[in-house]
Amino acid sequence: MADWLSSEIIEKIQWNERLFSLRIRSEFKNFIAGQFVRVALDIQGERVARPYSLVNEPGDEFLEIYFNIVPEGPLSPALAALDVGDGIFVTDRANGFLTIDEVPGCRHLWLLATGTGVGPFLSTLKGDKVWQRFEKIVLGYSVRDVSELSYREQIAEIENRHGEQFCFVPFVTREKLDGAMEQRIPVCIENGSFEERAGIDINTEDSHVMMCGNSAMITSVTECLEARGLRKHRRREPGHITTEKYH
Ligand SMILES: Cc1cc2nc3c(=O)[nH]c(=O)nc-3n(C[C@H](O)[C@H](O)[C@H](O)COP(=O)(O)OP(=O)(O)OC[C@H]3O[C@@H](n4cnc5c(N)ncnc54)[C@H](O)[C@@H]3O)c2cc1C
Repeated sequence: MADWLSSEIIEKIQWNERLFSLRIRSEFKNFIAGQFVRVALDIQGERVARPYSLVNEPGDEFLEIYFNIVPEGPLSPALAALDVGDGIFVTDRANGFLTIDEVPGCRHLWLLATGTGVGPFLSTLKGDKVWQRFEKIVLGYSVRDVSELSYREQIAEIENRHGEQFCFVPFVTREKLDGAMEQRIPVCIENGSFEERAGIDINTEDSHVMMCGNSAMITSVTECLEARGLRKHRRREPGHITTEKYH
């Protein structure tokens, strides 16, 4: 069993009325980019815990989580109500396989996220290792409206640092934004427009696809890629698709 570490909120970012990031000072720092920790609060005498991916880079002096309020949920509204100086519990252990250590050798890495699912990919993209391993990295980040497209400054920095090796493709499905795809990720894979924009294909030879966020996107994209011969990745049976479903 992991132990709970008493930790403290040191920064709060509110992106819109339902999206927040919290920076946390914690003794715990030992994780691999792409992993999640469990975070908890004591609510009405009960410790309520949920997993959250880490957005910061291993080695940073803080932990960062990025989340949306689920109005009917017990924890996320309480997390959103926290302020700098408030206490929070974090497990002393990270878990998860959405890490590039799990990805078999290939040329092109596709990172596909809906909403807060972009978090673990940002952690990975801030490090050096991923840029040494893959010739080209595509980040597809899908949201409903422009106000949900968080972390644009960090993504712009990654674009500046890595030039042609990086391709960022925003998907904004309920509003117009210059340069953004207007349909959902699965639709744009089906009709070829995503790959056309990235300038490379998703295929069994060159590609690994990591997905994070809502199950609907992950299920639709997986079905579409399986029809092209890509397979789910397992340690014992290497494949091309790695996923983490948040809900
Ligand atoms: C491995 C893993 C990592 C996760 N990392 C993150 C993260 O980095 N950021 C994040 O925002 N969430 C993340 N989640 C979801 C998170 O753990 C919580 O479920 C979520 O924040 C809601 O918590 P809650 O206690 O308010 O409601 P819960 O009791 O957890 O959920 C209430 C209902 O809302 C659904 N739900 C859960 N998450 C969402 C969501 N984001 N949007 C809409 N409906 C949802 C649940 O399926 C459930 O039906 C992760 C989940 C898993 C399994």
